[in-house]
Amino acid sequence: MVKALTDTYSTFKSIFTGMGITMRHLFKRSVTVQYPEVRDVLPERVRLKLHVNIDDCIGCRLCERACPVECIEIGTIKSTDNDDLGETSTGHKKKLWVDKFDIDMAKCCYCELCVHPCPTDCITMVEEYEYSTYDRNDLIFSFSDMTPEQIERANRKLQEEEEEKRRKKEEAKRAREKKAAEKAEAEGDGASTGKPSANTKASGAEGGADASGDADADREARRAEREARRAARKAERETKKKSEE
Ligand code: SF4
Ligand code: SF4
Repeated sequence: MVKALTDTYSTFKSIFTGMGITMRHLFKRSVTVQYPEVRDVLPERVRLKLHVNIDDCIGCRLCERACPVECIEIGTIKSTDNDDLGETSTGHKKKLWVDKFDIDMAKCCYCELCVHPCPTDCITMVEEYEYSTYDRNDLIFSFSDMTPEQIERANRKLQEEEEEKRRKKEEAKRAREKKAAEKAEAEGDGASTGKPSANTKASGAEGGADASGDADADREARRAEREARRAARKAERETKKKSEE
């Protein structure tokens, strides 16, 4: 009998305690929000997702280097001398095409280390958090706006420009070599007494330069010049000696 009374008391006590709490909260301000219809105001500087304003990106890769988990991948193509990529909103001259700018948010640890070194402030954390997905690959966000055709064209133009520069450089080098050989030949002819040493050596040096490639060409030409001068001095000495005899 006593036990039955104790149990009854405890049951009613529990009910009234619970109802008391419920009634207390019934007249208090609600702490829950009816998401997604209602959304909380997010705190300042909240870190939720990275965004890149690709128009302002100069492809410097400082963000990529700063990332501790290597979740940023950037690809760039040098612009040619004829390309004008314009400026960023911060006044930085753009010299590189950014053909790839991927951020893997599945790897990102939201440290924001990539944001601070950016010279143009174009990589930022934004208040976007609704990007859950069933596939991790969908968490790789691409920000480059270049089409495959544009990438191909930029690569081709750069290649053509590099080839043109290389060709001009080689032409200039050949002209220098030719000039040096001619000079050496002229010096040898002017001073020699009919001995073919200077000419032969200069020609030999020129031939050697052609054969040994561009890297040795200048060295060979200089050597030929030295040889020619030496031969000229020798010929001069011999002429002098003969006249004294
Ligand atoms: S927030 Fe941190 S982890 Fe994420 S991309 Fe930037 S540097 Fe890398
Ligand atoms: S640091 Fe800024 S400008 Fe440089 S590559 Fe990254 S996002 Fe672009």
